[in-house]
Amino acid sequence: MKFEVDKDACICCGACAAICEDVFEINDEEGYAVAKDKEVTDEEVKDNAISAMEGCPTSAIHEKTA
Ligand code: SF4
Repeated sequence: MKFEVDKDACICCGACAAICEDVFEINDEEGYAVAKDKEVTDEEVKDNAISAMEGCPTSAIHEKTA
């Protein structure tokens, strides 16, 4: 499972990185979050990343399918 952030929808609130720093990081200079482009296999990390996705206030996080 991989994740991606729609940078146009992201308001850079920092919540996703706070919940799951293994996957999400904030690009302060650009003003949006980015998801690391790696397959998330660890179940605990995956659960946290899904929580971050579901908790994103602007629904900017999606599962990356391609
Ligand atoms: S939780 Fe959503 S809006 Fe907040 S920084 Fe992450 S992707 Fe952006």
